[in-house]
Amino acid sequence: MKPLYVRVHARDNVGIIVNPGGLPAGASFDGGLALRESIPQSHKVALHLIAAGAPVVRYGEVIGLATRAIEPGDWVREDTLELPAPPALDALPLATATPPPQPPLDGYTFDGYRNADGSVGTKNILGITTTVQCVAPTVEFAVRRIKCEILPRYPNVDDVTAITHGYGCGVAIDAPGAAIPIRTLRNISTHANLGGWPVVVSLGCEKMQPQRLFPAPGSGAALPVLDGEPHIVRMQDQELTGFGGITGSIMRLAELRLEELNRRSRTPCPASDLVVGLQCGGSDAFSGVTCNPAVGFAADLLVRAGATVMFSEVTEVRDAVHLLTRRAATPEVALALIAEMRWYDEYLARGSADRSANPTPGNKRGGLSNIVEKALGSVAKAGTSALAAVAPSGERVTAKGLVFAATPASDFICGTQQLAAGMNLHVFTTGEGSPYGLALAPVIKVSSRTALAERWHDLIDVDAGRIATGGATIEDIGWEIFRLMLDVASGRKKTWSDRWGLHNALVPFNPGPVT
Ligand code: CA
Repeated sequence: MKPLYVRVHARDNVGIIVNPGGLPAGASFDGGLALRESIPQSHKVALHLIAAGAPVVRYGEVIGLATRAIEPGDWVREDTLELPAPPALDALPLATATPPPQPPLDGYTFDGYRNADGSVGTKNILGITTTVQCVAPTVEFAVRRIKCEILPRYPNVDDVTAITHGYGCGVAIDAPGAAIPIRTLRNISTHANLGGWPVVVSLGCEKMQPQRLFPAPGSGAALPVLDGEPHIVRMQDQELTGFGGITGSIMRLAELRLEELNRRSRTPCPASDLVVGLQCGGSDAFSGVTCNPAVGFAADLLVRAGATVMFSEVTEVRDAVHLLTRRAATPEVALALIAEMRWYDEYLARGSADRSANPTPGNKRGGLSNIVEKALGSVAKAGTSALAAVAPSGERVTAKGLVFAATPASDFICGTQQLAAGMNLHVFTTGEGSPYGLALAPVIKVSSRTALAERWHDLIDVDAGRIATGGATIEDIGWEIFRLMLDVASGRKKTWSDRWGLHNALVPFNPGPVT
């Protein structure tokens, strides 16, 4: 393979090395540029002379200022870049360049489980939710027995899962920050893939009493009731004797719910019933060139089909927020996005941190020098549609179109919050690689590089690396992801994480104090 780099935007003064294994000093490109030092794959090469203090430009945007003069052919990396200030939140353009709607995309369907409230499941799962971590091992024990002894009699149910978490007690339950984990767990417990409600297991003495998780009757989130009885087991109740009595009680309620879930069947649903969560994890410098733009193309297809597409990860949007506020459908939507950024700026400041805390050693190994470069690549997942709505962390999203659902960027926290927002299908892009998966919704994993897709051939679902080498276009891979989403949502194809049963823990975002 001859020496090759990719430049994303005509204004860019850096390119990304494409060749697997990188290139040695002296390697020269078509056009005459020669490397002055060896540069690893996916890292940046200076295309022109960049004076000390001058902007380094990638994606047509400034990703930093040169800390010293950089010669053409030099390796541009973290220590040659000064992090620029983030976009000021009080001077952003508000809905000044709202993209017009693209032509509708009709006729695409998937086979899903329609619920009474109109939501659609992509799986049919019995969920056993918990009000506190104390009961988690008991519920996991019961789930193992249910899977062996009861589930085989209910062939239309895909799985039984324990909805466990680290929350519920030892927390300041009335602090403002507590609202986020509580609504997160409520919305996960009533997820479309659980048919709208779970079996509940409580300890009895915990801070997060079942009534807090499922408050006022009639609010749509009241305690689930079956045959007039709440669908709940309280371990400390006087009438439960011994561990056998407790697990037997959980298993009895589980079987009642399994009988109901077993009556569900897949029916054709329009693609507009998809609620797709987008996320990246273990990103590299290719992510913004290959997998994220391909996912962005697929996101545009989903918006055209009338679906809901969520992107998230506040700290990876913060440095590109000026590109998004102008794309908002209305000034109010732009202001809601800014409010989420401001909340997170203050949250980080309370912890004596800032956005520079985001990039990982793996991101930097993969050629991402700082959070600005990472953010510009990350928001490519959001495609080109108008930003239709913004949802605070853990709130259920009801809008159609492109939605910003606020979450931290941490993979497993973001996935948990997106489930609460109503995600019934997850698309996860990765450069360095992650075996990430979720029990409650299928996770389609897309690699930024072919080398990763080949090495992890039984973990990665889509290889977007072919875009960098010219083997496929962004449009090709975007359509491939779109069609795979319909197949996976229908249960016709299984993702690798579902085939292996790789399901990460639920980790609700808790910005509130622990006691
Ligand atoms: Ca992430």
